[in-house]
Amino acid sequence: MGVLSGPVTVCIDRPLLALDRPFTYDLPEELGAGLGSVVQVPFHGRATRAWVLGGTDDVPERMLRVRKLVSAVRSFDERSLALFRAMSERYVAPLATVIGRAVPPRIASEETSIGTPPPRGSPLRALGTSPIEAYRDGPRLLEALRAGQGGAFVVRPAPTDEADAAVTCVGATLAAGLTAIVIVPDADPVPATAGAVVDAFGDDAVMFLGGDKRVRYRTWLEIAAGRYRVVVGTRPAVFAPLAELGLIYVHREGHPQHRDERSPSYHVRDVARMRAEIVGAVSVLSAFCPSLEATARDHVLVEPAVRPWAPVEVVRPGPEGRSPRLIRALRTATRAFVFEPLRGYGVARICRSCGEPAACASCLGMLRLERGSVRCVVCEAPGRCASCGATDFGIARRGAERVEEWARGVAAVPVSLIGRDDPPRAPIEREVLVGGVEALKDVGSPGLDLVAILHADASLRRPGVDARERVLVTWFEAAAWARSDGRVIVQTDAPNDPAVQALVSGRPDRFRRAEAPRRAEAGFPVGSPVFRVTGGAELDRELAALEPETLLSSSVGGATICLVALDAARVPGFGAEMRRLAAAGIVTRVEAEPHL
Ligand SMILES: [Zn+2]
Ligand SMILES: [Zn+2]
Repeated sequence: MGVLSGPVTVCIDRPLLALDRPFTYDLPEELGAGLGSVVQVPFHGRATRAWVLGGTDDVPERMLRVRKLVSAVRSFDERSLALFRAMSERYVAPLATVIGRAVPPRIASEETSIGTPPPRGSPLRALGTSPIEAYRDGPRLLEALRAGQGGAFVVRPAPTDEADAAVTCVGATLAAGLTAIVIVPDADPVPATAGAVVDAFGDDAVMFLGGDKRVRYRTWLEIAAGRYRVVVGTRPAVFAPLAELGLIYVHREGHPQHRDERSPSYHVRDVARMRAEIVGAVSVLSAFCPSLEATARDHVLVEPAVRPWAPVEVVRPGPEGRSPRLIRALRTATRAFVFEPLRGYGVARICRSCGEPAACASCLGMLRLERGSVRCVVCEAPGRCASCGATDFGIARRGAERVEEWARGVAAVPVSLIGRDDPPRAPIEREVLVGGVEALKDVGSPGLDLVAILHADASLRRPGVDARERVLVTWFEAAAWARSDGRVIVQTDAPNDPAVQALVSGRPDRFRRAEAPRRAEAGFPVGSPVFRVTGGAELDRELAALEPETLLSSSVGGATICLVALDAARVPGFGAEMRRLAAAGIVTRVEAEPHL
């Protein structure tokens, strides 16, 4: 940890685009501060927190002094700073915001209790041979890890190999004397893959997910002190301060939770690649159905040489979404999952008092019957007719509650419904489980007789630029619950839809080839960064001058909101312009990768 003195640049802890530039201060040597130190500086007359970014020769005429060192702990090293700068540029976010996301909040009392790290755990257990070795380009991935030579890989594991793929990659990395990060989309329940990695590497591994602030900061300090060789965690784990990093592995890379909803609204799959490139590590994006974004950039695809999936049968839905083939399959299934994306028992069609089409009296939204009561799906108000105020409706029966009801009359084993508030789980032995997307977590590979996917068509019609892709990812995750000699039945009126065809063939690339032109046509080509910019009346004109690929504007309550898509190579110039416009008061907010 080098100590700096004299003129240094700092990042002021004021997360504003208009202030997003380095400021120069004089750093007294006796403070013992260096790159990544948290210090206190006078800024616009106030004592303000700042991070030391490094020495500088570019000295202004008047230079204030750094007042004090706030903590002996360094928040980042040179390579982490390179990552934060790359993120600040890519997401047009203040560097202070990025650092604030990447480094957990300090808890001073924890800093004194970290002693010297205990010796590293037992020598590695020998891991058995892995099915990944027989995958197409599996040996190439393992060789890259063992040789510590970096590279970008996309892994499409067989359902039974999902956890093993992660364990094998981490094992190969550790064998090379390097460290590894495994990122999972959620903490509760802990995904089976996360559990498998921690079990395999014992004391060398740590979970960095959930927990209170104190525990998180202590774990972060321990990681920085070199206590662990494997970090398993949610999004923030991508920043884990591990030295000698050899692997960043993103599990279920298409999961929506891998995107941070707050600024800098990064996607962990992109940050994993950025960091891996900066430190020369391997990045692995793993998914049953890799996203268009994951496959848009150069990568090596690693997948089984033979199809490991259950055959997928496509049938027409039949009355009330019950095809005869599905009914027959449910009669004999002993362990099955019925994926019904719609909640509740049905939707209100007409008002029984006045005969008008049913709509919410408060907001004209759709009314749904769920758990015995009718409510608006938009504003959640109790169901009252918009025309006459009555509360009695004709209901069109559809949704998970209705499916549970009819499945009971068909199945030979008990049927249950998994609700939104129930912990996600797979069906137990002798059970048919009905549920939506909330149920579909990584619970290991349950190996079911039957997986049925209902309402496929309604799912594919959802609005949103990437809605179809999300649906397909969900279907693949559902289908992965079937054992390889089990059955998957999809009910659809559109058997030739590219998404349905991708599922049937087990080839997501078919879908991607059809979907990429659709995205380009909509103005948001895959791989082109998108920003939502909020500002004043001049914003539209200023952005048009930058000649982006796509520019959509709207006015909301006096503010102008613009959606901008532009070529990746032009983002740095765009960011510089946004910072200038922020300083001029024309831009008030920039959000990267908004939901479209
Ligand atoms: Zn309503
Ligand atoms: Zn009415």
